[in-house]
Amino acid sequence: MFSEKLLAWYDKERRDLPWRQNKKNPYYTWLSEIMLQQTTVATVIPYFQAFIKEWPTLLDLAEASLDQVLTKWQGLGYYSRARNLHRCAKILAKEFPSTEEQLLALPGIGPYTAAAIASIAFNQKAAAVDGNVVRVMSRYFAIGSRDPKGEVREKLKYLLSEKRCGDFTEALMELGALVCRPKNSLCLKCPLQKDCGAYSLGKVEDFPLKKLKRKLPTRYATAFIIRREDGAILLRKRPLQGLLGGMMEVPTTPWKEQKGKSIKKSPIIRHTFTHFHLEVEVFHSTRTMGFEGIWVHPQDLKNYALPTVMKKILKRDLEAL
Ligand code: SF4
Repeated sequence: MFSEKLLAWYDKERRDLPWRQNKKNPYYTWLSEIMLQQTTVATVIPYFQAFIKEWPTLLDLAEASLDQVLTKWQGLGYYSRARNLHRCAKILAKEFPSTEEQLLALPGIGPYTAAAIASIAFNQKAAAVDGNVVRVMSRYFAIGSRDPKGEVREKLKYLLSEKRCGDFTEALMELGALVCRPKNSLCLKCPLQKDCGAYSLGKVEDFPLKKLKRKLPTRYATAFIIRREDGAILLRKRPLQGLLGGMMEVPTTPWKEQKGKSIKKSPIIRHTFTHFHLEVEVFHSTRTMGFEGIWVHPQDLKNYALPTVMKKILKRDLEAL
């Protein structure tokens, strides 16, 4: 019943998203799923379309350089996804595996993404559990755990539609995005309302139960905007491994948890990453102070893969264009 009601609703209400128009194209499914990790559908649509326009097939993407991919990815954040995407494209272009286990072995593909691709692109019976799915299932079954993922996965194994696994996966996510929303759920429009536990308790927004919050540490650094006489700015490439790997930056001191001596009146830029806050003091100079890199004229900055924190630091230079 659960599955029939959900699928009937999906057939009527589903959005026409660009990656759904060509449903049997695993390239589209994979690309959209990687982009959608940590990002909303509305943000992803123009990026997805730009990627498909530039690289219509997986083979095209596999032949692109990492810099080209990072530049197109600018603004989507979590850049390790772009680096893994690039590595993964080269593997997938040779052979695209169809099972959850094989997909899980690929770079940038975790349990959720492997299950989503296996079910959506290959109609395999795989339980893809993302935030939307956890919310719908926690509410429907009024799950009393603060970490309900495992329980949700177990329940899904029984509920998954035999014939339409891919549609079932997308339908559950779609219900979470459009109806069973984090706030202001549209329960009266929900196909599952009659048997929903949280709804019958009158406690929809209490589920899923909140995780206990942990406070993020703050790291501190000084960034140097070093300008040559002709206006060019010194940029360097971050190491390939690690946070924002392979992206461009202005030179900075190491990002440390102890605050260094502050330079009077220099502006402070704040940025929050998944695991820490960063406070950067911005210092302007005409001397290289031993830093090495490439000189880029302000009008060319847009051609380089600059992460959001660096765009904030270079805001005035970017806005002046
Ligand atoms: S009835 Fe409300 S809480 Fe329950 S699944 Fe539907 S939208 Fe979510």
